Amino acid sequence: MSMQGSVLAVGKCLACLEFMLFPVWRGIRASSGVGGGWSQGWARCLRWEPDSPGQRPRIPVFDYPVWLVLCRGGRARLIEVCQRGRGAIRLPADMLSIKLPELFDIHQVPKVFREDSIISGYRHPRSSALDCVLSSFQMNNETINIWTHFLPTWYFLWRFCLLCSTLNFLTDSYTWPLLVYMLLICIYPFTSSCAHTFSTMSPESRHICYFFDYGALSLYSLGCAISYGYYVIPDSWVNSWLHQHFVPIAIGNTLLCTSLSCYSRFLELQFPQRSKVLRTGAFVLPFIFDTVPLFYRILLCCGGSCNSSDGLSSHCYHLLFAFLTCFLFTAHLPERLAPGRFDYFGHSHQLFHVSAVVGTHFQMEGVIADMISRRATLLTHVALPSLLGTIGVLVLSLVLNLGVIGIFSAPLLWKPCRSSNQASERKEQ
Ligand SMILES: [Zn+2]
Repeated sequence: MSMQGSVLAVGKCLACLEFMLFPVWRGIRASSGVGGGWSQGWARCLRWEPDSPGQRPRIPVFDYPVWLVLCRGGRARLIEVCQRGRGAIRLPADMLSIKLPELFDIHQVPKVFREDSIISGYRHPRSSALDCVLSSFQMNNETINIWTHFLPTWYFLWRFCLLCSTLNFLTDSYTWPLLVYMLLICIYPFTSSCAHTFSTMSPESRHICYFFDYGALSLYSLGCAISYGYYVIPDSWVNSWLHQHFVPIAIGNTLLCTSLSCYSRFLELQFPQRSKVLRTGAFVLPFIFDTVPLFYRILLCCGGSCNSSDGLSSHCYHLLFAFLTCFLFTAHLPERLAPGRFDYFGHSHQLFHVSAVVGTHFQMEGVIADMISRRATLLTHVALPSLLGTIGVLVLSLVLNLGVIGIFSAPLLWKPCRSSNQASERKEQ
């Protein structure tokens, strides 16, 4: 059918819809045409006209509504109708024939891409950037990992926008630690989501993607330290040595955390256990340091001297999810119990993402509650946060951590360049 013919057919459909919108069932024996069947309406609308007068229509006339066609084995007929309909509205053929990337089993991909107890659903180890983006809409063993951090990014952004409308982040310096914290809890899930999306472009890109992921996580630990140092610190620790050096030590922790976690990737193939211990330790260390003031407040509360405990219940939920997150990261459950069963849905890394995000949500609630409820007390004893002590620290740590990532990425970037140069030199010879 030509474009003109298609438009005509659609026009006729629209015309019949005008006066016969609701078809009526008139009884059985529709095909005999004696009093039964559906009144003209859907049937006429589904009829395809022949390309030219006298020529038989390629598709026999539909005498039944769509659901009856399906029941009577008319699926092939319906598919043909749909294809012709597609022609009528002229959707770009390329768009309709997008081929989703092929998936592989564990033994088909290089060792560096393999995950513990995940047997299938691997993407091509040399995927293009477009394939990586497309694969996030295709069910593979990374899809849920991508979305369990991409969607929370938007949730935290939404919460950040709500706070922007109620707090004055521009001029009220008391809110700056919260500003840094909010920025970082938006950045870390987004970076993780990107790392999971683009980690199959090459072995080198996989390492570099996860270097950024680790860098964002260690910066998030800095965001926790800055916000805890200002809002969560116990009253009795205010202006103590630890309070005064809390943020500088946290900067050192981020550098140590990024360095150790990036280094752990180089040990992964040769010493998987050592690599795992090193990476887990790299993240547990700043977590314990950041949480020391909170542990002390909870201990005080258990001893019966609770002060402004509005945010404490949220903090306790956060700790609960933080321990669950750590457990999931190290235990590789449930996939370890049934390798291959949880490849696509329900494996430990997905649960780890969800647990981390839920924990961050409770932590955010706790920090906001403490910031609001302890404002008067804190402002009488502590100097207002400075721009240098908050945004300045964030920028400095960002630059330093990018430097660490650069140091670890350089040999990986240099290696492919060097090998391609050597290959071209060999060709020239
Ligand atoms: Zn992840």
